[in-house]
Amino acid sequence: MDFELSEEQKLIQQTAREYAQSTLLPRAVDYDRREEFPRQNYTELGELGFMGITVPEEYGGAGLDDTAMVLVVEEIARACPSTAITLSVHNSLPCRVIGWFGSESQKKKYLPRLASGEWIGAYAVSEPDYGSDAARIQTSAVKKGDRYVLNGVKTWITTGANAGAVVVFARTDKNVEKPHRGITAFIVEPSFPGFSAGRQEKKLGLRASDTCQLVLEDCEVPEENVLGEVNGGFGIMMRGLDGGRIGVAAQAVGIAQACLDAAVEYSKVRRQFGRAICEFGMIQQKFADMAARINAARLMTRQAAWLKDRGVPHSKEASMAKLFASDTAVYCAEQAVQVYGGYGYTKEYPVERYFRDAKATEIYEGTSEIQRIVIARHVLGLAKRH
Ligand SMILES: Cc1cc2nc3c(=O)[nH]c(=O)nc-3n(C[C@H](O)[C@H](O)[C@H](O)COP(=O)(O)OP(=O)(O)OC[C@H]3O[C@@H](n4cnc5c(N)ncnc54)[C@H](O)[C@@H]3O)c2cc1C
Repeated sequence: MDFELSEEQKLIQQTAREYAQSTLLPRAVDYDRREEFPRQNYTELGELGFMGITVPEEYGGAGLDDTAMVLVVEEIARACPSTAITLSVHNSLPCRVIGWFGSESQKKKYLPRLASGEWIGAYAVSEPDYGSDAARIQTSAVKKGDRYVLNGVKTWITTGANAGAVVVFARTDKNVEKPHRGITAFIVEPSFPGFSAGRQEKKLGLRASDTCQLVLEDCEVPEENVLGEVNGGFGIMMRGLDGGRIGVAAQAVGIAQACLDAAVEYSKVRRQFGRAICEFGMIQQKFADMAARINAARLMTRQAAWLKDRGVPHSKEASMAKLFASDTAVYCAEQAVQVYGGYGYTKEYPVERYFRDAKATEIYEGTSEIQRIVIARHVLGLAKRH
C-alpha cells in the first residue's frame, strides 16, 4: 500500500492549489453575492489543462486519471465550491461518457472543444417528477427520418444555460417491462432547434454555479448524436454517475478542508477570557474531530479514484466516499460557523458560504439516502459489481 503521491501528482495538486488560492478565492465572494456564472474561470482552467483532465491527449485532453481529477477538484473546492462542481460535472460526466461511448466522429467533434474549455459540458438526467427515480424519466425521443425529436423538461441541470454540449437522457421506448431498458443518451447542442434554457434556480448555496431547467420542445437531434446504443442509455447514465460521485466526494473534501483551515486561523486570533480561543479544549476537540473525518473522507475518495483508474469495480466505494465526504463537509461547515461564533453567521467571513455550499453535496448525483441504498445492495450481495 502506497499513500504517497507521485511527483507528477504533487505537481498537479500544487498547480491547482496555487491557481485556486491566488485567483479563484478572491473572486469567489463576489460571484456568490452576484449569483453570477464565472465563465472566465473555465477558460483559465482550460488553459491549465483542467477541463480535459481524463480526456485522451489525441482529443486535446491532459490524458490523466481520476486520481488527478480528485486532486484538482479538491483544491478548486477549497477556494470556490461553485467552480468545483461545474468542473467536476464537466470532467466526470459528459467528457467521460463521450470518451467511453462516443463514436470516433463524436469524439473528434466534441472532446477537443470540451477539453480546451471552449465548451462546458452538462449532463441532463433529472426531471420535475423524477429525481432519485432516474430509471423512470419521461422526456421522450421519437425517431423521425434521420433525426430524433425530443420533448420534455430537465431540471436542476448544472451549467445548463452555459453549456456547449449536453448529454441528455430520454425515453425511446415506453413499452419495456423494466423502464430503465427504454432510455437513450443523446449529445445535444444548444443551437439545435427546439432547445432552450428555462428557469434559473435561486439556490441556498453554490450560487455561482448555473443550475437551470432545460426545455426540449420538438428538439431536433441528428441521429448521429445518439451516444452509445439506442435503449442502452441507463447503463451510460449509471457508469457516468459512479465517477461523478467520486468528483462530488472530492468537492466535499475540499469544502471540509477549507472550513478547518478557516476555523483554525480564526481561533488563533480571536481572544476571549484573556486567551486565544484555540486554547480551549472544546475548540480543540472540534478541530480533532474535523481533521480525523477529513482524513478518512480524503482516503475514501482517493481509494475510489484509485480503483477506477485500475478498471476495478468501484460503484460501492464511490457511493461510500460520496456519502461520507458529503456528511463530513456539512459537519465541518457547521463546526466552523460555531468556532466563528456570531461572525460565522455573517457574510463577513467565508464559512457562511461554505455552510450553504456544503449542503448540496448531500443531494446531487444521488442523495445520501440513495447512496445508502447502493451500498446496502452491495453489502447484501444484490448489486452487480461495476
Ligand atoms: C445544485 C444542484 C445541481 C444539480 N445538478 C444536476 C445535474 O447537473 N443534472 C441532473 O440530472 N440533476 C442535477 N441535480 C438534481 C439532483 O440530482 C436531484 O435533486 C437528486 O437526484 C434528488 O432528486 P429530487 O430533488 O427530485 O429529490 P427526490 O428524488 O424527490 O427525493 C426527495 C427525498 O426523498 C428521498 N428518497 C427518494 N427515494 C428514496 C428511497 N427509495 N428511499 C429513501 N429515501 C428516498 C431522497 O433521498 C430525498 O431526501 C442537481 C441538484 C442540485 C440541488
